[in-house]
Amino acid sequence: MATATPTVRDEYRLLIGETWVPGSAGTYDIVNPATEEVVAQAPEGSADDARAAAAAAKDAFESWSQTSPKERAELMRAVARRIHERADDLIPLVIAETGCTATVGKQMQVPVAASRFERYARGALEPSVIPLPPQEVPATALAPGGIMGAMARRAPVGVVACITPYNFPIVNMAGKIGPALAMGNTVVVKPAPQDPLAVIELVAILEEVGFPPGVVNVVTGSGPETGEALVDSPDVDMISFTGSTGVGIRIAEAAGATMKRLLLELGGKGAGIVREDADLENAIGQIGSVWSFHSGQICTAPTRAIVHRSRYEELVGGLTKMAGMLPVGDPLEKGTVVGPLISGAHRDRVEGYVGIGRDEGAEVVAGGGRPDMERGFYMRPTLLAECRNDMRVVREEIFGPVIVVIPYDDDDEAIAIANDSDFGLYDYVFTGDSAKGLAMSRKLRAGNVGINTVQRNHETPFGGTKLSGVGRDGGSFGLHAYSELQSVVWPG
Ligand code: NAD
Repeated sequence: MATATPTVRDEYRLLIGETWVPGSAGTYDIVNPATEEVVAQAPEGSADDARAAAAAAKDAFESWSQTSPKERAELMRAVARRIHERADDLIPLVIAETGCTATVGKQMQVPVAASRFERYARGALEPSVIPLPPQEVPATALAPGGIMGAMARRAPVGVVACITPYNFPIVNMAGKIGPALAMGNTVVVKPAPQDPLAVIELVAILEEVGFPPGVVNVVTGSGPETGEALVDSPDVDMISFTGSTGVGIRIAEAAGATMKRLLLELGGKGAGIVREDADLENAIGQIGSVWSFHSGQICTAPTRAIVHRSRYEELVGGLTKMAGMLPVGDPLEKGTVVGPLISGAHRDRVEGYVGIGRDEGAEVVAGGGRPDMERGFYMRPTLLAECRNDMRVVREEIFGPVIVVIPYDDDDEAIAIANDSDFGLYDYVFTGDSAKGLAMSRKLRAGNVGINTVQRNHETPFGGTKLSGVGRDGGSFGLHAYSELQSVVWPG
C-alpha cells in the first residue's frame, strides 16, 4: 500500500447543491506537520457559502427524507466500497495533512471511515418504529373515547451541520454523515481548517456513487466564519459538533437562539486509575498510548495517571522507560511511533503546558521538549510526576503527548481525584479484581469507562458528561442521535 507523496488536485472546491464552486474568499495553505511544506490549497469559504450550502441541504431534505431505507443503505455501501478502492490515494493524503504515522493512517483513518459507512448502511435498515400498547381512554370534551392505538417512530431531524476537529478528519466525519444520512437527514459538512482535503474527497465519493444534489454539501475555511454561519442559519436544524469545549460552549450559546438540536462531543482529561493490584505492565502499555497513539491528540486518552502510592515508583519508572523507547520522527518512516503535532501553534501550546507544570511544582521525568529535528512540529513523549489535582496541567486538556501522574492512598480518594475534573469523557480502571473495577466504574462520572483496556467497542454509546459534551452517538445510538421521536395515534 502506498504511503509516500500524496496525489493532490490542482484545485479543491466546495460542493454546494449540485455545483462544485471555488471558495468565495479564495484559498489557503494546508501544511504538512511533518515537513512544514504546503500540501495543497484548500478553498477559503465565506459565511455566504455556508448559508448557500445550508439552503441547498434544506431544498434536498423533502425528497431525500422520503427515500427508502434500502436505497439509502445501498448508497452507503457503495461509499464504503469506493473508500476501500481509493485507499491508496486517500491514505497518503490523510498522512500528509494530519501528520499521523503510516500505521495510524493505514489502520485507523481510512479503513475505519469505510467501516462506519458499512455500519450505517446496516443502520438504515434497523427498525425505526416503536410499537406502543393500545390504551383505553374515556370520552372527554376533546374527543370520543375508545381504544387508542399508538406508535413512536424515528423521524429525521432535518438539515444537520457536521463540524469536526482535525485529529481524525474522515473517521470523525464518517461517524456523523453515516448515521445522519441513514436516518434521512441532509448534511452540510464543515471539516477542521487544518486538514479538510480528504473530507472533500470523501464528499466527492458520496456525489460519485449517486447521493442526489444537496443531500451532502461541503464548506471549508481557515477561520470560524463558515462554522459560525451554519450555527446561526435558520435552515440548519441540528449541529453535530466534535471539538474543543470552548468552541462547544460558544456553539451551545449561539444555537439556543434557533433552538437547534445539539450533539456535542467535546474535550477530555481521562483518568487512568491504577490500583495496587493492577497488572503494571498492562497499565503502563495502555496509559502509554497517550504517547504512542497519534501523539496524544486523542480526546479519550488516559492523560491523568492516578496511581496507588504503593505502585507509584514502579509506574513512573515503567512509563519513563517506555517514553525513552518510542521512536519520534517522520511519520512515513517504518518504526516511527510518535509523529508530529498538527501545527507549530499547537506545539507551542503543549510546550507551554510543560513550563506551567514545572512552575507549579511538577517534576518533568521524561521528555519536556522537542527532539533534535530540523523541520516538523515534533514533541517528545513527556511525563510529569509529583502532580496535584489543583495544577493547571492536571485540570486542563493539553491534547498532546503529555501524561501527568498523581498518587493516591485508597479507592475512595482515587474516585474523588478522578471526578474532581471539569471533564467526564473517558476514564479507566486498572485492577486485578474485576468486581472492584466494575464497582469503581459505577462511581466514575464519565460517559465511558474502560477496565484494564483502552480498546473500544464501537457499538457502545459514546459521549461525555459535564464539560465533555451532550448526547451520545456510536452504534445504534448514533441513529437515535440523528432522529427525533414522532408519535402517531389512531382510534382502534
Ligand atoms: P476546535 O474546537 O478548535 O475546532 C473544531 C471545529 O470547530 C473546527 O472545524 C473549527 O473550524 C470549528 N469552529 C471553530 N470555532 C467555531 C465556531 N465559533 N462555530 C462553529 N464552528 C467553529 O477543535 P480542534 O482543535 O480541531 O480539536 C481538538 C479538540 O477536539 C480537543 O478538545 C478534543 O478533545 C476534541 N475532540 C473531542 C472528541 C470527542 O469525541 N469528544 C473527539 C476528537 C476531538
